[in-house]
Amino acid sequence: MKKNSRNPLKSPIGVALIAAASFGVIAVAQTALQQGNVSENLSSKAKALVDQDSERLQEIFKDIHQNPELGFMEVRTAGIVAKELETLGFEVKTGIGKTGVVGILKNGDGPTVMYRADMDANAVEENTGVPYASEVRVKREDGIEVPVAHMCGHDAHVTWMLGIAKAMVALKDDWSGTFIAVAQPAEEPITGAQAMLDDGLYTKHGVPVPDYLLGLHTAPGPVGMVIGAGGTRMAGTDQIDVTFYGKGGHGSRPHETKDPVIMAAAAITQYQMIVSRVVDPQETAVLTVGSVQAGTDNNVIPESALLKLNLRFFSLDVRAQMIEAIKSINNGIANTYKVPEDAMPTMVMKGFSPPLVNDPDLVEKLNRSLIPLVGEKNLVPNFPAVTGSEDFHVLAGENKNVKIAYLLVGIADPVEARKAIQDGRGFPFAAHSPDYKVDLSSIPVGTMVGLTMVLEVMANAPTE
Ligand code: ZN
Repeated sequence: MKKNSRNPLKSPIGVALIAAASFGVIAVAQTALQQGNVSENLSSKAKALVDQDSERLQEIFKDIHQNPELGFMEVRTAGIVAKELETLGFEVKTGIGKTGVVGILKNGDGPTVMYRADMDANAVEENTGVPYASEVRVKREDGIEVPVAHMCGHDAHVTWMLGIAKAMVALKDDWSGTFIAVAQPAEEPITGAQAMLDDGLYTKHGVPVPDYLLGLHTAPGPVGMVIGAGGTRMAGTDQIDVTFYGKGGHGSRPHETKDPVIMAAAAITQYQMIVSRVVDPQETAVLTVGSVQAGTDNNVIPESALLKLNLRFFSLDVRAQMIEAIKSINNGIANTYKVPEDAMPTMVMKGFSPPLVNDPDLVEKLNRSLIPLVGEKNLVPNFPAVTGSEDFHVLAGENKNVKIAYLLVGIADPVEARKAIQDGRGFPFAAHSPDYKVDLSSIPVGTMVGLTMVLEVMANAPTE
C-alpha cells in the first residue's frame, strides 16, 4: 500500500473527525439509498432488548474493568464469558489457546458468523478517576510486578459481545445460521488469535469455519461515532527479540572482551537506516526498539545484550525486506567484532500479524444498516489506515474465503470529544494511555452496533 498522501494539517485523524462531525459524509449518502437487511421493525426490537439490558451490561463492564487481566492470564474474564454463554444456551468450549472461550449458537440453515472480542488488559497504571478504576498489580512471567488496567477498551469489547449474545438468543425467530461468539486472549502481544488456531480452534475443538468474521474496537472518538471503512485498515506487525552475544569481562579492559552493549547500540542506530535507506520511501515502515537489556554493573562488560523490536508495515514485501536487513545488520556488526560462528546474534520471532484488510463490499453492506442506527453524519466510511495493529483477522486462519469486517466505535464522552476536536487535539485521550476512559453510555451503543452488524448478515428476509 502506498503511504497516505500528506495532509497539510497536522493530524489526518483529527481532520477526518472534524469533517465527519461538521459536514456529514458524502460518500455514504450515495449508498444510503439502498436499504440494509435489518428492517426498521427488527432494529427497534433489537434496540428495546439492548436498552432493557443496558444496566446489567454496564455492571458487567465495571466488574471486568475493575478486575483486568493481562494476556493469557484472563482466567476470571474467560470465566464470566463462559458462564454467561452457557446460561444463554450456547455450546461453550473453554481453554482454547490457554484462556480463549468459544460459544456456538446454531439456529437453522444460514451463514456462519463469528464475532470476536479480545479480553486482555494493559500493563498501565490507570488514571481515569472513575469509581471502578483498577488498582490491580500482577507479577508477570519475567518476575516484574506491573500495574494492570483496561486502557484499550477490551473490557467494553467483551461486554458488547455478551450483550449481543443475549439479544441474539431473544431474537432467534428473526435470523438463521450459526452464530459464534469468541473471547480471545492476548491481543496486545499479537499472539492470542494464533494461539487459538495452534490449539486447533477449527480442528481439535471443531468450531465451524465462519463465512463472516466480525469485530469492533473502541476508538477515542465521541460515543455514537462509527468508523466503517473498507480495504487496508491497520498495519501488519512483528515482535522480534534480537540477542547479541559477546565475551564479558572487566570494564577497564575492553580489549580483552567482545562488548555486546556496543554491538546492540550500533544495531539500534543502523536499524533506522533500514527505514530511511532500504525501504521505498513511498511505502510505510516503522521499526521501533522498545527495550534494551544488558548488564547490571557500571564496570562489568556483560556476556549478552537483548533488544526488543517492533515492526509495522502495510506490505509483506516490506516486512521481508526489513527482516532480512535486520539479520544482515546483526551479522555485519558481529563480524566487525569477530564474534565466533557459534555465537552469532539470534532473532526470535515472537508474534506476527499481517495487515488488517476489511472486505469493502461487506463493510458497505454493514454501513447500510448502521446509518439508520447512528445517523449518517456519525458514520465515517473513509478513515485513513493506521500503523496500529490487530490480530483479529488472524482468527480466519488459512481460510481465504472468510469475509472480514472490523469497525471502530467511539467511546469518549461526547462533550470531552468535541472539546478535543475544537482544541485541535483530535482525541481527548489515546489508547494505552492512563486516562483512556470508556463512557458508560457507549456500552448499549456499542452493543447495538455489533448486534446490527451481526443481524445485517444473519437476519431473515422481511416477510411483508
Ligand atoms: Zn486493543
